[in-house]
Amino acid sequence: MSTTEVITLKNLVDGELVDATTGEYEDVLDPATEEVIARMPLGGPEDVTRAVDAASRAARAWGRTTPGERALAMLKLADLLDQNADELTDLESRDAGKPRAAAAEEVASCSDHLRFFAGAARTLTGQATGEYTEGYTSMIRREPIGVVGQITPWNYPLAMAMWKIGPALAGGNTIVLKPSELTPLTTIRLAELANEVLPKGVLNVITGHGVPVGSGIVTDPRVRLISLTGSVGTGKKIAAAAAETLAITHLELGGKAPVVVLDDADVEKVVEGLMVGGLYNAGQDCTAACRIIATPGVHDRLVAALVPAMEALKIGEPLSADDIELGPVISAAQRERVLGFVQRAKDAGAQVLTGGEAVGERGYFVQPTLIGGAAQDSEIVQREVFGPLMTIQQAADAEQALEWANDTVYGLAASVWTRDVGTSMRFARELHFGCVWVNEHMPYMSEMPHGGFGESGHGKDLSVYSLEEYTRIKHVMVNLT
Ligand code: NAD
Repeated sequence: MSTTEVITLKNLVDGELVDATTGEYEDVLDPATEEVIARMPLGGPEDVTRAVDAASRAARAWGRTTPGERALAMLKLADLLDQNADELTDLESRDAGKPRAAAAEEVASCSDHLRFFAGAARTLTGQATGEYTEGYTSMIRREPIGVVGQITPWNYPLAMAMWKIGPALAGGNTIVLKPSELTPLTTIRLAELANEVLPKGVLNVITGHGVPVGSGIVTDPRVRLISLTGSVGTGKKIAAAAAETLAITHLELGGKAPVVVLDDADVEKVVEGLMVGGLYNAGQDCTAACRIIATPGVHDRLVAALVPAMEALKIGEPLSADDIELGPVISAAQRERVLGFVQRAKDAGAQVLTGGEAVGERGYFVQPTLIGGAAQDSEIVQREVFGPLMTIQQAADAEQALEWANDTVYGLAASVWTRDVGTSMRFARELHFGCVWVNEHMPYMSEMPHGGFGESGHGKDLSVYSLEEYTRIKHVMVNLT
């Protein structure tokens, strides 16, 4: 794919790159320039049916491959990703408005994920075969689930596709995947590359809107596992729809990560951590460090150090210079959403300590924003904003900080900043989130699980835990007499 002209995308169905059966297209915009960069086929119900047909036909043969054979195909795909990394980086940067260095890092992480899952495919463990009742031998089989449906968001288009495709392929499943309608470019390029190494029908990609494409995947009774990374609202709709077919759901949803900063924290390190944890990807991250809760001995020092650091960030069109640190948010609607949160926070009595405005005439840029003095039960503290915005609250003491941190419907990620090992371990136990960082906020790796509690959803991405979730367990019992 060229990265300068308007690209006309195709879908991948049964090993063929095809137009949507609707014959319709929708424009895809660069959020930094508002220019049209691609035309995306608008999939319809017939496209979903054809894709599920293809995935169903491919399921038996792919499910019977050995883990070693699957691993080999995945390793070849990882090599292809590396060979095409520059192009994928440019596409991701333009499509999602990411600074080029960040996009490059994400693309590199994708081949690592694939290599991890290629290896993990060959190492699944389980309970020992044995005689648990006299006269019978029992054993456990881990089998592919069959056809899985996967639906991804716009904030990390390629990485989220890879977090899903990796364990699904490793487990021997076939896939029908829908990328976000806002950011389909790298997923389609991935599909083209995958088509060079995977048998036809193993991976099918359909572009289009949540309804009818996502909803069509979810309601097809042949799809036995549905994996979504997206908002809580979409997660609830999918869980309700899946009740009809009783498909397994794997839901990676929103977050509102607390950052508990205690009196003895190293303020310089906290600021460094927040500049990445809170503002990476313009804060459009489900684990974003967006809810700082500081105790009285550190609160003012932290605000004094954080505000100038935020104001020094270089904002701009991601491909205009190598040192751009903050790109736009994804769309005009998202920018209005973020600014709406700021206005309502001010109306409710909170103070804008820095930022709070749109930037420039072109592109969907928002200033890095810090809000102080918001009440624990206020909207800005309780709801996911998904933009370059953090709140800072002052808690009376460590106990209240812990209580406020846990006072949320979400449960994806949290961090605690303290020099005291015992305190950090106590917080690690008491914080009700799927990931707790100590003196850090954000890093993830292929080997460790990512997934939330509460309304952040259920199921794990990455790690052997996710691979296990893409298999089903069968008990085989043999009468020995
Ligand atoms: P979204 O829920 O609007 O859309 C996600 C995907 O679901 C898109 O592909 C969309 O087309 C599809 N969809 C929408 N309605 C659907 C329906 N009725 N049936 C089937 N599919 C449907 O989310 P978004 O705005 O693209 O992404 C941002 C959200 O994703 C944030 O809430 C963020 O926290 C969350 N997220 C979570 C994680 C995680 O790992 N927990 C990671 C990244 C993003």
